[in-house]
Amino acid sequence: MHETKRRHLTVLRTELIAPRMQRITLGGADLEGFTSLAPGDHVKAFFPDPTVGEIVTPVVVDGRPQLPTGPGEVIARDYTPAAFRPIGEHGPELDLDFVLHADGSHAGPAASWAAQAKPGDPLIIGGPRGSRVPPSDIRRAILIADESALPAVTRWLDLLGEAEVIGLFSALEPGTSQYLSGYEASAREFRWFSGEDRNTRIAETLAGLAITESTLVFLAGEAGSLIPLRRHLRRELGLPKEQVDAHGYWKQGEANLDHHAPLDPSDPD
Ligand SMILES: Cc1cc2nc3c(=O)[nH]c(=O)nc-3n(C[C@H](O)[C@H](O)[C@H](O)COP(=O)(O)OP(=O)(O)OC[C@H]3O[C@@H](n4cnc5c(N)ncnc54)[C@H](O)[C@@H]3O)c2cc1C
Repeated sequence: MHETKRRHLTVLRTELIAPRMQRITLGGADLEGFTSLAPGDHVKAFFPDPTVGEIVTPVVVDGRPQLPTGPGEVIARDYTPAAFRPIGEHGPELDLDFVLHADGSHAGPAASWAAQAKPGDPLIIGGPRGSRVPPSDIRRAILIADESALPAVTRWLDLLGEAEVIGLFSALEPGTSQYLSGYEASAREFRWFSGEDRNTRIAETLAGLAITESTLVFLAGEAGSLIPLRRHLRRELGLPKEQVDAHGYWKQGEANLDHHAPLDPSDPD
C-alpha cells in the first residue's frame, strides 16, 4: 500500500504519440514521493466540471471520502501511470496516456479534457493506493490489450525484461502500433488487430497459442470483449486465477465503468 494523497498537478506538455493516443505530461511539487511499482497500478484523475469551471473533489470526513455538498460534480476516471520521472526537465514528471475515443455524442469528460489540454491546465490525481507487484520470475507472458491498456502493456514490458512475450493488441487505427516502437525485442512478438472483426481474430489467435503452466496471461480493455477470452482461459483450459490477470478498463456504452465489479458476472472470481 502507498500513502494516499491528493496531488494538485499542472500540465507541462502534451503530445499525440500515436493515432488517438495523447500523452499528457504532468508536473508539480505534489509529485514528491509518488510511487507506482506495478503494471496494473492506476491513479484516479479528477477533471474540471464544465458547469462550475473547476475541479470538484470528494471531501474527506472521518477519513472517508464523501460527495461534497457544494455546487458541481465530481468527475473522476482511472488512468495508468505510464511513466514517472522523479527528476525531469521541470522537476518530477508523470506521463498519463489518454485514448482520444471521443466521437460525437459518446464523448467522455476524460478523453475530451485530454484532447484540449494545454500547458498550465490543472489536474488532480489520487493514488495509486497500492501496487500488486507480479512475481519476478515470469519467463513467458501473453499480453492482450486494446488502446486503453497499452500504457499498462509498456509497464509490463519494462518489468518482463528478457522474458518471452506474445502481444495481441486491438486498435481501431492500424498506426497505433507506433505506440510500442522502441519496445520490440527478439523474444517479443507483437500482433496488431484492427477492423470490425478484430476481437474475433484475437480470440482465434489466442485459441491457437500453446499456454503452459508457466505462462502468465494479462488481458485488459473493453470489458465485454474480454469475457470470451477469459472463459477460454479459465474454463476451457482450466488455468488457475493466479495465471489469468483480466481487467475490464471500460465498457461499450457505459460511462465510468466500475472496474472492481466482476468482469464476467456469470463467473465472478
Ligand atoms: C485500472 C485502469 C487503468 C486504465 N488506464 C487507462 C489509460 O492509461 N489510458 C486510457 O486511455 N484509459 C485507461 N483506462 C480506461 C479509462 O478509465 C476509461 O476509458 C474511461 O471510461 C474514460 O473516461 P471518459 O470520461 O473518456 O469516458 P466515459 O465518460 O467513462 O465514457 C463515455 C463513453 O465513452 C465510451 N468509452 C470509454 N472509454 C473508451 C475507450 N477507451 N474507447 C472507446 N470508447 C470508450 C464509454 O463506453 C461510454 O459510452 C483505465 C481503466 C482502468 C480501470
